[in-house]
Amino acid sequence: MTQGHIADGTMRFLQTDTKTLLSGHYRCPDDLVEFAVARDLPPVPGYFQFGSGAVCFGQCHLRVCSTLPARNLSDAFMHTRAQGDTILLPFDPVQVVNNLRLERYSGIPAARSVPPWASNIVRNLYYTARPFMPVAIRKHLQSWYLRGWEKIPFPCWPVDMTVENILERLLILAMKSRNLERVPFIWFWPDGHQSCAMVTHDVETRAGLNFCPQLMDLNDSFGIKSSFQLVPEGRYALPPSVLEDIRQRGFEVNVHDLNHDGHLFDDHTEFLRRAERIKHYAQEFKASGFRSAVLYRNADWCDSLGFAYDMSIPNVAHLDPQRGGCCTVFPFFIGTTVELPVTATQDYSLFHVLKDHSTRLWQEQIDRIRAKHGLISFIVHPDYVIDPAPRKVYVELLAYLSKLRAMGKLCVALPGQIAEWWKVRSELALVNLEGSWRIIGKGSERARIAYAVRVNDHLVYEMDTVSGVTPVQILDEGHGCL
Ligand SMILES: [Zn+2]
Repeated sequence: MTQGHIADGTMRFLQTDTKTLLSGHYRCPDDLVEFAVARDLPPVPGYFQFGSGAVCFGQCHLRVCSTLPARNLSDAFMHTRAQGDTILLPFDPVQVVNNLRLERYSGIPAARSVPPWASNIVRNLYYTARPFMPVAIRKHLQSWYLRGWEKIPFPCWPVDMTVENILERLLILAMKSRNLERVPFIWFWPDGHQSCAMVTHDVETRAGLNFCPQLMDLNDSFGIKSSFQLVPEGRYALPPSVLEDIRQRGFEVNVHDLNHDGHLFDDHTEFLRRAERIKHYAQEFKASGFRSAVLYRNADWCDSLGFAYDMSIPNVAHLDPQRGGCCTVFPFFIGTTVELPVTATQDYSLFHVLKDHSTRLWQEQIDRIRAKHGLISFIVHPDYVIDPAPRKVYVELLAYLSKLRAMGKLCVALPGQIAEWWKVRSELALVNLEGSWRIIGKGSERARIAYAVRVNDHLVYEMDTVSGVTPVQILDEGHGCL
């Protein structure tokens, strides 16, 4: 919060950086409106809501709940009001959105009901035995470990878009207070694409590594390029020719943890030691992206790894050993690192925890994220699609993505291309020159102006028709449309 006192009756307010939060996501003009937050917020954070579908966690002037599930959460949306050009809020959206994106919310049920010391012993035993453990035994252990996941009320399964819902409501409030029906912004994706998808492969074992050439053939047969995350130490030998082959075929190489022992984030000193090794391998692999083992993560340490982008935070982590989720389907920045959240269920969880050998769930997640124009991101392990049955499901996924791309509903790109675009977009500016909006900055030729239009207190997006670009365009065959 910044200084600047505003009084409204007996309540006092402080200015916040909410307009920067809003313009950071939408890349809209940042002089729309000021936001101010009630002073002297209660010190203890808790859950409340900001309209339906937007569960918030943070300090709030209203009654908050310490745990979920809770019925009748206080609704902060009903307690906002405008005073001149300023919207007065009973909570700080910057704090709440950070709490969600960086998973700083309490009451996340651990994926086990044992004390921490016992859990560490179990984890050590599990990761020591894991390489020798048949999948049949592993999946029984994991089902036990993850039991009760379907009763977790938050984040929302199978896709959580709370951050987007909060940002939309803030924009609506800003537009209403200025009596605006339309606000221009820089469209989320380049060349007017409606949404974006990426396919990534974490390579777990030697068998998985050996299968990579076939997997690349399969992906190529659908014109889909993907990324391969490789474990630098302790899993398999990685001769330079393997990395070169992946790159030469137009696929991407990233670093997958250090040795995949499940302990990267256990201790900060040890983490920093490992981070140096990981940075060394990033150079050796010529890799700009990172994903940790088993999606273990600590957003506060992420920047120390020095990657351009990270892919370790799931959108909703009910089926992962580390629960939580970043509650957004858009990339976001952690320091200078672009975070590309994992927004679809992993293949292993789909096949072995949910025991679902179809693309039904994946299609549902794709359709929900597309409706929000977000990023659809997949982890498919080469190791788990060697057998014909799961491979058939993966082929169905590729066919579905390929069909949507041919219909102009999405583009499919490499993680590095998506992260690069997100950085380029973040540095573009939307300016009004002699009465018309222009995007200026490096890369502006691929950016498109869109409008957020207020319709009955909801937002719809329209592309700028002056530039002659519409979001629905039939794309050519091929990959890497970013
Ligand atoms: Zn892995």
